Amino acid sequence: MEFISPDLIKRIAQKYGFTFKKGLGQNFLTSQEVLEKIADAAEIDGGGVLEIGPGFGVLTNELAKRAGKVVACEIDDRLIPILDDTLSEYDNVRVINRDILKTDISAIIDEEFDGEKISIAANLPYYITTPIITRVIEARLPIRNFVVMVQKEVADRIAAQPGTKDYGALSVLCQYYAVPELVRIVPAGLFVPRPKVDSAVLAMRFRKKPAVEVRDERMFFRVVKAAFSQRRKTLLNCLAASFCSGKEQLSAVLDDAGIDPRRRGETLSLAEFARIAELLT
Ligand code: SAM
Repeated sequence: MEFISPDLIKRIAQKYGFTFKKGLGQNFLTSQEVLEKIADAAEIDGGGVLEIGPGFGVLTNELAKRAGKVVACEIDDRLIPILDDTLSEYDNVRVINRDILKTDISAIIDEEFDGEKISIAANLPYYITTPIITRVIEARLPIRNFVVMVQKEVADRIAAQPGTKDYGALSVLCQYYAVPELVRIVPAGLFVPRPKVDSAVLAMRFRKKPAVEVRDERMFFRVVKAAFSQRRKTLLNCLAASFCSGKEQLSAVLDDAGIDPRRRGETLSLAEFARIAELLT
């Protein structure tokens, strides 16, 4: 494939009479430098990669150079013959025409990669950003790392630290299983068509074991969900509303955990959430 540029993306679209569908989040990346950054951050080193939404195959091209095998899952059947053409020089790429949200990713890893640990890389369509990240993270798949281009605001939320406005349940979920790193901010002008907001490349390296140890993960995430349920309320009020328990009892639990019940949920670290969950388990 030629060096990627806005002109090349427009020429491919013209050649195949392709029109971009906003509803499928089709904002294609036009920067060779950013594509290489995403592929490098995936730390593939000859391993397997699952790509979500290959589009014209510009990222697939960079992944294929570094991987033993790439499986690229694309929902739009108009792109399948185009991908056949743009990726024809590679024999280690398999394109599947499916909706990733209706696909069993664990089965793909078993069938296509013999259950080996893989990387997942994607310039994610905006409309499925949070559901797909949540699904991949929660499924406990055999993944080394997960590199995604997302709206900058989502990347900020995932990497946010306690006490900041962006810190929320999504930050805790991702940081519990992985170490997120903001690789690069990508201005809206580097996509065709141009989206309304800037994006960012986020690399999430999966931890060998979760960031904190808890006996009951469901209780841990219940506490997290409760703590962020009403941002203006104190931690005690949020927990009391979600757990339907007496405030005195919960106040004693927070005391035992060494946490001031008047604090807001968004100031708690993962270790503090874990302490509360342990006492409630
Ligand atoms: N990878 C290309 C790039 O970087 O230029 C295209 C990225 S574009 C933001 C998102 C791609 O995801 C599009 O090709 C779109 O058709 C595809 N897509 C959208 N929804 C999808 C879904 N549910 N499952 C699989 N692919 C999807």
